Amino acid sequence: MDASIIKQIEDIVGPEYVSTREDVLLTYSSSASMICDTAKPDVVVRPRTAEEVSKLLKLANKYRIPVTTRSGGSSLQEEVIPHSGGMIIEMMRFTDIKLFEDLRSVKVGAGITFGQLDKFLLEHDLWLPMCPESALVATVVGNVAVNGAGPGSSVYGSIAELVLGMEVVLPNGEIIQTGSEANPHAPGPFLRYAFGPDLTGLFIGSLGAFGVITSVSMKTFKRMKHFHHETYGFHSIDAAERFLLEIQEHEIHTVFASLYEDRVLDLFMSMLGDEYGIPEYEWPLRTVSMTIGRLREDELNSDIEMAKKICEDLGGYVIGITELPKGEWELKMWTFVRACYVHGWHWRTLYHHQPPSGNRKSVEKIWEVMDEYGFLGHTAGFLSGHASMNMYPHLYADPEDPEEQQKIRDGHQDLARRLFKTGAVPFKLAPYWKDILQEIPDYMDLLRMIKEVLDPNGIMNPGVLGGI
Ligand SMILES: Cc1cc2nc3c(=O)[nH]c(=O)nc-3n(C[C@H](O)[C@H](O)[C@H](O)COP(=O)(O)OP(=O)(O)OC[C@H]3O[C@@H](n4cnc5c(N)ncnc54)[C@H](O)[C@@H]3O)c2cc1C
Repeated sequence: MDASIIKQIEDIVGPEYVSTREDVLLTYSSSASMICDTAKPDVVVRPRTAEEVSKLLKLANKYRIPVTTRSGGSSLQEEVIPHSGGMIIEMMRFTDIKLFEDLRSVKVGAGITFGQLDKFLLEHDLWLPMCPESALVATVVGNVAVNGAGPGSSVYGSIAELVLGMEVVLPNGEIIQTGSEANPHAPGPFLRYAFGPDLTGLFIGSLGAFGVITSVSMKTFKRMKHFHHETYGFHSIDAAERFLLEIQEHEIHTVFASLYEDRVLDLFMSMLGDEYGIPEYEWPLRTVSMTIGRLREDELNSDIEMAKKICEDLGGYVIGITELPKGEWELKMWTFVRACYVHGWHWRTLYHHQPPSGNRKSVEKIWEVMDEYGFLGHTAGFLSGHASMNMYPHLYADPEDPEEQQKIRDGHQDLARRLFKTGAVPFKLAPYWKDILQEIPDYMDLLRMIKEVLDPNGIMNPGVLGGI
């Protein structure tokens, strides 16, 4: 990048917040995503205000510089890998938090992680009842930008459901506010669906392609204190899938409910069972590992009874092993992600949603691909709201074996295609969905049109949003 452009960037944010050092550029060339191509940006910039971001985007437009907005850098699907010769705008200096107790909401800057927010809300006996398992490094804004889901989603849905509004710097440098806060006289964030169409939703899951989010306003809830962890066994796939649907229908407060195959649990236990203190067990065909959470103990007890009844009415049984769901809920660490880190594998994940009754279709396709291509992986998923499951299969590869890594890349793409045909839907519209999305040309045309209106020079994270 031309030295005169670097000088202009330094004039905007101050030279101490601009870096072109090789080691820094190298650090920002990758993320938590594995088995993917990396690329070195030309410059990393760390602004502090929306006005600085605005000036940076105007400059990027003037010189047609590709911009990648980065927060925690923990995304897994290449979303934050920069463009060669481009600019990284790193948002971790946006550290403001403002609580609106009377409005049941909190406004957080783009640099606030889930861990920091939780610590802050704990002092007020409140919480944001959903977080990714990468909570200590992932930012709330970064998760909104990918529309993530995780523990808590089984009741509350994906993070989108908790957003009340946001401040966004558009690619042309204009700064806008969505939700009730768009009214400068409003007391703060209390309503997302204000002023007509849901403009907030336009930026949720936009992967940094439509602008830079500087803050989000989120719903807060009174902190739950009563939890129950349990495992439920089923000898039939039908019964296990039906169980997941019925616990939703009966409004049992399952803050996290995962569905596992026996062979996947066996693999996981062989790797991490001891560390989690999970006793040896002959797992049934399907196991639901579940945490119920409630504000009041009487509600919790009623939910526990009802869950047991639903399970038994469907021919299942209460296993009684609590360490697995407890670990998933309390340790806030993907058990399976952790398993492959422990083993030093590299992996690609393929996030997608299915209704509970579609779980078997995903499982079938994942095994089909793993068997055909000859690699290892898993098929786990969790309830992610009203009638949906978030499936997050991992495909493992030896980091030292380039051939195996290529096999994973090919198999991953192939799996995405096969999953789409089963009716699965992507919610993080990562670039590898691009070819498959040709099946829905009108939808993609609309997305492209929006992109062209907002970002006519195509500077914002080009290609990231399903190829747009
Ligand atoms: C161990 C592990 C476990 C994980 N578990 C989960 C999980 O349970 N659920 C889940 O959803 N994800 C999970 N992830 C993935 C990842 O942590 C989340 O997607 C996370 O929310 C990304 O946030 P981030 O701050 O790291 O964003 P980044 O990785 O920095 O960015 C993610 C995307 O958002 C864009 N972006 C970032 N900041 C902004 C901004 N201010 N304005 C506009 N666009 C922006 C980026 O350009 C990029 O496209 C996990 C990752 C790891 C490593």
